[in-house]
Amino acid sequence: MGLLDRAGARITAHPEEADILVVNTCSFIDTAKQESVDTILEMARHKTSGSAKKLIVAGCLVERYRDEIRKTIPEVDAVVGTGELEAILEAAGLAPTHVVAATSPFNILTSVQVDTRAGKESAAGTHKHEAGATTFRAEGDHRERQGRFSRDDWQGARHLLPTYLYDENTPRLLSTPRASAYIKIAEGCDHPCTFCVIPNLRGKFRSRRFESVVAEARQLISRGVEEITLIGQDTTCYGEDLGLKDGLATLLNELAGIEGLRWLRFLYAYPNRITGRLLETIAKHDNICKYLDVPLQHASPDVLKRMKRGAGAEIFLKTIEKVRAAVPGIALRTSFIVGFPGESPSDFEVLEQFIGEAKFDWLGVFSYSHEEGSAAYSLDAQVPKRTIEARRKRLMKLQQKISRNAKQDWVGRDVVVLAEGESEETPLLWEGRTQFHAPEIDGKVYINDFGDLEQLEQGRFYKAQITEAHDYDLVARIVSGAQ
Ligand code: SF4
Repeated sequence: MGLLDRAGARITAHPEEADILVVNTCSFIDTAKQESVDTILEMARHKTSGSAKKLIVAGCLVERYRDEIRKTIPEVDAVVGTGELEAILEAAGLAPTHVVAATSPFNILTSVQVDTRAGKESAAGTHKHEAGATTFRAEGDHRERQGRFSRDDWQGARHLLPTYLYDENTPRLLSTPRASAYIKIAEGCDHPCTFCVIPNLRGKFRSRRFESVVAEARQLISRGVEEITLIGQDTTCYGEDLGLKDGLATLLNELAGIEGLRWLRFLYAYPNRITGRLLETIAKHDNICKYLDVPLQHASPDVLKRMKRGAGAEIFLKTIEKVRAAVPGIALRTSFIVGFPGESPSDFEVLEQFIGEAKFDWLGVFSYSHEEGSAAYSLDAQVPKRTIEARRKRLMKLQQKISRNAKQDWVGRDVVVLAEGESEETPLLWEGRTQFHAPEIDGKVYINDFGDLEQLEQGRFYKAQITEAHDYDLVARIVSGAQ
């Protein structure tokens, strides 16, 4: 979006008015692929009935099904993979008087539209990204030799893996509300998880330069951002390829010192990389959210071994104990996969029991998706779909009970809430979040009483008191504006 904007495009939220439509896609599991294809087909209709003249498909679906997209959806004019972001300009054929639009089914970009008004200089050729300086971890090179990133079975996929990394000079338009922004600190992944094709889509793990991340954070904060969420396929590996020890902790420490940054968090921690130094850093800074997202995927040692992730319930419980002792009151989020090939009733029982003991604040359960190109694709003992769905529902029900009980303890607590805007259900209610809720994924705080204030302002922080608790959501009344 930033590149298109700098090349003279105007972004809009109405695809029906667009000259050019861009769909940013995902393809790591079946449901994501389906959603991507549905969105492409929906946008293709604008090409026949609206003003759109071009349809561009970008992102992970392209890395996987490059030729097939062009063959099966003739309305698609161009495709742009994850490693060739700047090709979007050529694909859009940006010329004065054109209008371009981009959308994503996953809210990575909201529905936008771009108008290539004359006069702005094209960004093509002027932007230098960090790919030239890319280094890799020895582990990544080793895994490459083992065939981890192979796309040989993927018809139409390019053999060259993406090496792209953006930097602080890459133009960027935020699609998130004004107070919040994501920063991607690393790209790719070297882990060998057998169910996962993300490394084949995104390439080997590579970190952005330390100074580049800090510079981008400063720029965002100077533009009014007060909450930064660090992301990457594995944030806890940050800096290993740059020779940094405890890179993420060092980065958090530096970012926490920037004036004006109110909330800082990171997502997607790898369980065995949660170091004492990382926990100390979270505990030490008031503006680092007391929040840890650590996808565990399963708890049965046998399943985790077949997933090539290792560990198990016993080790995880010790880690959780260590985390809670180091950062009292920390909110923990995790996700699990049910129905991995060979998951027996007793494996499932181990997982169920573990969830009962660990008592996570937030939990997601994914049904296993059988992905061509993953190592698990050739495993026998597939679990029937109906069993997978029954297991998923059972875990969600268990978590609902855990969450309902835990949320009751919140009633009467004073918290700082970030007001995100009117609720979709009624303008009488506003929605917000505390530091214990990550953007877009966790429960909500509904604000039904503005206290002495006549109106709330979107993107502002308020002191509030929790007055009610439901299964996942909370209700609060505003006490005052937060300083
Ligand atoms: S760590 Fe995450 S992204 Fe990397 S291979 Fe495992 S599941 Fe996939």
